[in-house]
Amino acid sequence: MKTNETKTYPQIKCPVVDICGGCQIQHLPYETQISQKETQVINLLKDFGKVSPLIPMDDPYYYRNKIHATFQSDRRGKIISGIYQAGTHNVVPVDSCLLHDQRADKIIVSIREMLRSFKMRPYDEDTKRGLLRHVLIRTGFKSNQIMVVLVLGSQVFPSRKNFVKALIKKHPEINTVVMNVNTKKTSMVLGEREQVLYGRGFIEDTLCDQVFRISPKSFYQVNPVQTEVLYNKALELADFSGDETIIDAYCGIGTIGLIASKHVKKVIGVELNKDAFKDAINNAKRNNIDNVFFHNDDAGDFMLKMADKKQGVDAVIMDPPRSGSSPAFLSSLVTMKPAKVVYISCNPVTLKRDLDVLVNKGYQVEEMVPVDMFPGTHHVETICLLTKK
Ligand code: SAH
Repeated sequence: MKTNETKTYPQIKCPVVDICGGCQIQHLPYETQISQKETQVINLLKDFGKVSPLIPMDDPYYYRNKIHATFQSDRRGKIISGIYQAGTHNVVPVDSCLLHDQRADKIIVSIREMLRSFKMRPYDEDTKRGLLRHVLIRTGFKSNQIMVVLVLGSQVFPSRKNFVKALIKKHPEINTVVMNVNTKKTSMVLGEREQVLYGRGFIEDTLCDQVFRISPKSFYQVNPVQTEVLYNKALELADFSGDETIIDAYCGIGTIGLIASKHVKKVIGVELNKDAFKDAINNAKRNNIDNVFFHNDDAGDFMLKMADKKQGVDAVIMDPPRSGSSPAFLSSLVTMKPAKVVYISCNPVTLKRDLDVLVNKGYQVEEMVPVDMFPGTHHVETICLLTKK
């Protein structure tokens, strides 16, 4: 596809778009969503140069490979499952969401229907009574593997064996079931404690021809179709020659670095989350890759140590969370003087803040490409290539 304007997209209406907090712009035709996001990125980043047209998703529905439903009793005591209303802890009943993998939504409905016969009540944050809080489901887009995480408000789950047996009987497509215990009053879905009830405790999926292990708590991009588009574009912009040593910062389970490893001499990955770090090491072995080295550290601290030891690299790929990078990271990067920086950002506001720092310290922005990873929502991803002046 050459331009965004030439393609028209079907529009499916969501019945709860006004009250549910999952999407913000689902009611708009996809063409309008695209131009809104493009305008947002241009307005924020135009001082750095020309922003390329946003890369849209061909089929902007049912793309999420990670879905989570919250369980609650309504005023009449009926059990409902769905998504939090924007800004509240009230659950909007949702059986089928336009963003979710439809196989996952069906499993949520089955679990809700099973609760009564197992005498399981939804967990109440205030009274701390009941058991089931959330269900998190991860689906492998290419592998078709499915992981169900039952998030409970107590570690006492008396009927666990029979519950899991009944669930697998109803949905034999499920590969693994994990119990997670979260007793805190928090907006975080997952708690610390975890126990595998069935299967291996993780699923695998294929991305850019490599197989990745994904654990319940590891970050993994939620839109598998657009992730390949994003990574391929990032590598195209990086245009590696094969001789480089590069850093993959905020590397999650190692996806970008492992995929880039074929195009460079050596990759150094750094990730704060322990589970994701362990997944990354396994993923290197799983794909027989031996030129990637992962570190479990804060990316800023790690860069400081590298800069202190006067260790240089040729390029840095960085993909920080929404809050963006840190002053320690950026100042160490400037000290290390990599010739190229590929900044992948899920928040153009913090991207602008961080680009200001890099541009003031000797880098120039070469290209900025927005990618739609999250149709229906106001979120937008941007890849930015910088070079050393
Ligand atoms: N590049 C990966 C992950 C991007 S999400 C991918 O494409 O899948 C951002 C990642 O940064 C998450 O895995 C998160 O755990 C990690 N992270 C957050 N703060 C961090 C920090 N201070 N140092 C290192 N990693 C961090």
